[in-house]
Amino acid sequence: MNKSDQKHVLKVIPIGGLGQIGNNMMVLEYGSDAIIIDCGIAFKNNWSGKREVLTPDFSYLSNITHKIRAIFLTHGHEDHIGAVGQLVSKIKVPIYCSTLTSLLVKYKIRESKVDPEDLVLAINEYQPIITGCFTTEFFKVSHSIPDSMGLIIDSPAGKIIHTGDFKIDHMPADNHPMDLQRLATKCNHGVLLLCSDSTYAEVEGYTQSEYIVKKNLDAIIRDSNKRVFIATFSSLITRFQQILDSADLYGKKVCFVGRSMINNVSIGLNSGHLHDPNNIIVNLNESKQLSENKIVYITTGGQGEVNSVIGLISSNKHPELRVTHGDTIVLSSEIIPGNEISVGKVIDNLSRQGANVIYNKLHTVHVSGHGRSEELRLMIAITKPQHFLPIHGEYRHLIAHSKIASSMGIPDNNIHVIENKTVLELSQFH
Ligand SMILES: [Zn+2]
Ligand SMILES: [Zn+2]
Repeated sequence: MNKSDQKHVLKVIPIGGLGQIGNNMMVLEYGSDAIIIDCGIAFKNNWSGKREVLTPDFSYLSNITHKIRAIFLTHGHEDHIGAVGQLVSKIKVPIYCSTLTSLLVKYKIRESKVDPEDLVLAINEYQPIITGCFTTEFFKVSHSIPDSMGLIIDSPAGKIIHTGDFKIDHMPADNHPMDLQRLATKCNHGVLLLCSDSTYAEVEGYTQSEYIVKKNLDAIIRDSNKRVFIATFSSLITRFQQILDSADLYGKKVCFVGRSMINNVSIGLNSGHLHDPNNIIVNLNESKQLSENKIVYITTGGQGEVNSVIGLISSNKHPELRVTHGDTIVLSSEIIPGNEISVGKVIDNLSRQGANVIYNKLHTVHVSGHGRSEELRLMIAITKPQHFLPIHGEYRHLIAHSKIASSMGIPDNNIHVIENKTVLELSQFH
């Protein structure tokens, strides 16, 4: 490529998230402009078993700081927004995201002692944002946190689709399915590059719909004559809503326990992504005054973490809550590889104390937020990209996704299995 061609090259630089779970961050660079997509943390257990928080390596940015026009955030999970605070303490550019993500990221930015108010801009999915030579629009995707978005980015080299984390759920918990027709229309004139979520590329078929979980949790809440504890991820606001709606239907109250959970509930209530149907949310003290068949607790601890609410209850160490014979405990979560032993211990301990413990192996009480092979195929079919970049996954997930792309007819030379900090160069003439 000669020097004048170089000017017309789109550079795609994954800073984090490829060949690993977490630290998702990507730079798109063209001429004198660059934008950043996501900036998340990753967790790693160190040699002593303590959890360490990792931030992406920002070194690539030091040479292009003057080019960076904006940061776009796809959704509010920690692996996408957790390191934004550190980033904005170095680079202050506008941050565009959906409403819920804006509230969650403002909280992160304040923790870094930066005022987020002028930086973070909540936008809707139909609003094109022009930043240098890039024009970006969001498109709604289904995922395990409300207000999750993918990106449609027009650059002088061509269109880039970045899916963010997604699954294709026609009956999602927030009743706002992905607008496949709009995405297809936007891709009508050709897509240079599709960057797509690889987390579940190894798994055949479709991820089950959220409505299956709703149906099953509803039956558990309806049929329980004693207390119900549901442990889940603290950002799973749509799951909270499903539980609130069922509890309301059966005349029960709901109590959230756990600091991160209570914080996200208040953000969800503020943003309108969570509704308390009939003032049925009660605090811990109020919950203790209720008869045992009138209360549902939503707690942290779906991964069997020792210091989570369910972890402490299982070991009889929670200062205020004890499990009693006949209580129902639901682990409404996916067990992250590596946590099987601690989750198993929690299930055993709770069962010994007489609880009826329900988890995914027994009953579908959780579905993933990531699409399986057939949803990934559908994304390729809708966008018909010239080039394909599998993102968001361990190396084996990227490979599995590349095979899916190949089976869909994308030429092998145009499928780019790369890892962090590799620069992918594309042009219209490539
Ligand atoms: Zn996510
Ligand atoms: Zn993610």
